[in-house]
Amino acid sequence: MLNINNLKASIDGKSILKGINLNIKPGEMHAIMGLNGSGKSTLANIISGRDSYTITEGNVIYKGESLLDKSPELRALKGIFMSFQYPVVIPGVNLTYFLKAALNAHRKHRGEDELDAMHFLKLIREKIKQVDIDEKYLKRAVNEGFSGGEKKRNEILQMITLEPSLSILDETDSGLDIDALKIVANGVNQYRTSENAFLVITHYQRLLNYLKPDYVHVLIDGKIVKSGDMSLALELEEKGYGWLEK
Ligand code: ADP
Ligand code: MG
Repeated sequence: MLNINNLKASIDGKSILKGINLNIKPGEMHAIMGLNGSGKSTLANIISGRDSYTITEGNVIYKGESLLDKSPELRALKGIFMSFQYPVVIPGVNLTYFLKAALNAHRKHRGEDELDAMHFLKLIREKIKQVDIDEKYLKRAVNEGFSGGEKKRNEILQMITLEPSLSILDETDSGLDIDALKIVANGVNQYRTSENAFLVITHYQRLLNYLKPDYVHVLIDGKIVKSGDMSLALELEEKGYGWLEK
């Protein structure tokens, strides 16, 4: 599904990613762990298409096509979803309207009929249950007055509504208490199938306890220095990152 080959990227002349290689197959969940500033969000942003980065070498191939020349909108329509580390408030845009417009853009791209208000409401009422969001939030502006945990649950609501092939979750666990963490993990787990893939970015192992990723990679200073399975995450929790930095 995703092949990242020797990806090097910089910003304002400062080198940030220094040769990333990563292959993700359908059905797999990969976790990227690393300290603040190691380049995790940069990697996520480059896959989802946020600009301002200069790709100096390498490539990102998604379902056989290079992504780097495609707009963020087109990448999203092709099934790439990213949950932001810092979800934005969109004043004046009602959450129901936002989700419906997004879903219908995807349906249209896939050659499917758009859902009318009634059918959409029926669908979204099912989805909000999966992430324990109350119906009253559907009438609010996107993320306006949402707590940290509610914003993160809303990110997962967007994911399960849009049904992407590749979901990138950038520190979706940050700022969550244990109950919200379980809800988020549950939402993600319910969405796992043999066809979907996930890239989960975090610097704590606690979310991974619930998600049980197939692979864990450690990113230090723009390079994946070690890959393994869930036992690597447990080892990091115990020993920190220091032993890998040398
Ligand atoms: P992480 O998500 O692992 O904490 P980031 O990818 O956000 O790390 O950042 C990696 C490095 O790149 C940091 O040193 C950060 O300061 C720098 N960086 C990221 N984005 C920008 C930007 N827009 N402008 C300048 N420096 C940036
Ligand atoms: Mg980050």
